[in-house]
Amino acid sequence: MDKHNKAIRRLGVFTSGGDAPGMNAAIRAVVRTAVYHGLEVFGIYRGYEGMIEGDIVPLDKRDVANIIHRGGTILKTARSKRFRTSEGRNEAYEALRAKEIDGLIVIGGDGSFTGGRIFHEEYGVPVMGVPGTIDNDLYGTDYTIGFDTAVNTAIEALDRIRDTASSHNRLFFVEVMGRDTGYIALNTGIGSGAGAILIPESSVDLDILMNHLEKTEKHKKLFSLIVVAEGNENGNAQQLADEIKVRFPHYDTKVTIIGHLQRGGAPSALDRLLASRMGYTAVESILQGHTNMMVGVQDNHMQLVTFEDAITKHKAIDADLMRMADILSQ
Ligand code: ADP
Repeated sequence: MDKHNKAIRRLGVFTSGGDAPGMNAAIRAVVRTAVYHGLEVFGIYRGYEGMIEGDIVPLDKRDVANIIHRGGTILKTARSKRFRTSEGRNEAYEALRAKEIDGLIVIGGDGSFTGGRIFHEEYGVPVMGVPGTIDNDLYGTDYTIGFDTAVNTAIEALDRIRDTASSHNRLFFVEVMGRDTGYIALNTGIGSGAGAILIPESSVDLDILMNHLEKTEKHKKLFSLIVVAEGNENGNAQQLADEIKVRFPHYDTKVTIIGHLQRGGAPSALDRLLASRMGYTAVESILQGHTNMMVGVQDNHMQLVTFEDAITKHKAIDADLMRMADILSQ
């Protein structure tokens, strides 16, 4: 059955919340797919904040040339307090009406989708979501745009630290992003051959950790790289290193916080491909009449998941992957 929504003629696209490498590739895919279908496309600057202010410009397919390889987002991104109020959302609606925009593609994380969902419920404007966040913490998709690049950046940093780590009893605590989730830490830890991985989802006792490290030391391992997610329950990298210094003073501890380096840089091949597929699928789906949904990838297939599920359901860390990381770090 053809669910083509004839009503959509003018599509707005914007990036919102935390930025992620690959957002530009997603914008490009949205614009070009929409133009292919004969739609007029508008870029909304600075997420919901720019929407309220009417900071909206027409985008043609040539306007998104030469951006697929660039990190960040050409549309800028923002957090908008005003959009959390009904007055703010009303202003946003009026700004869209002034441009006759009748469909929205939001590229962002769960906060951005929450805003999109409420906006759709209040004003009926069709909204489709594209998951752009380095944290990979959204239910309904195996991967989010930016995650692969962030992990690659972190692994490159770990490789460099490993090169300098050649003395006895040196413990390197390397902190990666992930306030609530350990996806970046787990994947970075496995990919860089870390001695231990500490994430918010599982609390590791310091004594057990040190026991593990002492054992590996007996096996003539000369140093240990420990990857810590910033939201780790027992403390961030600096707090852990401080505690180790007190309790195990014979260890020489070093701390590196990779920080915002993980957000920047050219998107990886995987992120460019994912962003292209998701941007394309989002436009095709909104034209078929879908709304209030996020595009996800599962087992390498594009699928749609409701905003409600994407926002409220929890994507659990793969326990077997954690077990494997443990076994491989011996
Ligand atoms: P992310 O999309 O990366 O999770 P945020 O959580 O900061 O980032 O959300 C981005 C923006 O989405 C917020 O600044 C706000 O404008 C909008 N938003 C988030 N939650 C709500 C809400 N409950 N109601 C309305 N707007 C919201």
